[in-house]
Amino acid sequence: MRRNPPVPVALLALGSAQVRERFVKWLRNANIEIELASSATDALVRLGGRTHALLFTDRLELVQAVRQLHAGSASRVIFVDVDGTVGAREALRRGANDCMPAEASGGEEFWAHLTTARRIASLSSALQLALTDNRILSTIDELTRCGSRRFFEHEFPREVERAVRLRRALSLVMCDIDHFKTVNDTQGHETGDEVLREFAARLAHGLRLGEDWVARIGGEEFAVVLPEVPSGEALQIAQRLCERVQAGPYEAATGPLRVTGSFGVTGFEPQRGQRRISPHELVKAADAALYGSKRAGRNRVTALSPD
Ligand code: GH3
Ligand code: MG
Ligand code: MG
Repeated sequence: MRRNPPVPVALLALGSAQVRERFVKWLRNANIEIELASSATDALVRLGGRTHALLFTDRLELVQAVRQLHAGSASRVIFVDVDGTVGAREALRRGANDCMPAEASGGEEFWAHLTTARRIASLSSALQLALTDNRILSTIDELTRCGSRRFFEHEFPREVERAVRLRRALSLVMCDIDHFKTVNDTQGHETGDEVLREFAARLAHGLRLGEDWVARIGGEEFAVVLPEVPSGEALQIAQRLCERVQAGPYEAATGPLRVTGSFGVTGFEPQRGQRRISPHELVKAADAALYGSKRAGRNRVTALSPD
């Protein structure tokens, strides 16, 4: 995960070369990344492409146009009143957040405005970083470190889409720990958590790195996604997983435990002319197969075609 906050970006759309140079020099010293726009149109294109913490411009029509863009494109719009003829009231009326003189001869006011701008720029980049971290965090299940339910819901449909587009097989294995409630009830929730972690680790171990992936999609329910694996092969993989999760006791703090899981397998093979199957149909089939395993006595694998 990234540790350093991103350097805030300021966009400069200033007609006067002299004023532009002065701002570039100051912003460089303040560790703010600078982008220069050659025209108002160029500025709007750049604002549409990425988020800028600051926009400095001496064009009133640009100030107004920026306000029509979506809210995140420029956090703070600063009108630079080059010859002092526009005035703060008019600039603010047109949508600027601030109006400042173009040169240091404007006195302390000039530096006060730039200091505020810099503070806002670093606030906005810290916020951006927090949002990114949040997004990364919510894709990982904190307890087991495998994918979260949210990650599964986002990524699995894309995986199905990819399989259809590239005409490659895709298999899905659903699995649920057997009698897990008893573990919690007799050994406590902490031990339950330890079992969940160990179970997830055993599932993930031995899968193809960077291709297969595991997500925890419910309390003690996991999905294993196997791209480019036909159902027949997925059945064998699930059988190996079923053996691996129960091979040897789970060494919990409260003592060793025996744990098993029930599995359901499904898949589709678009390269063999099989009709287009939706993510929902695959999940439904794998779920039905899993409950087949539960009904048949648990600790086993059942396969079911989505058709
Ligand atoms: P079955 O073999 O039919 O799957 O029975 P089960 O006991 O595993 O299933 P059930 O759905 O009755 O119980 C699941 C339990 O999982 C209940 C719930 O308290 C527990 N659980 C869900 N999430 C967590 C968690 O994050 N940590 C712990 N320790 N327990 C959890
Ligand atoms: Mg269970
Ligand atoms: Mg369950």
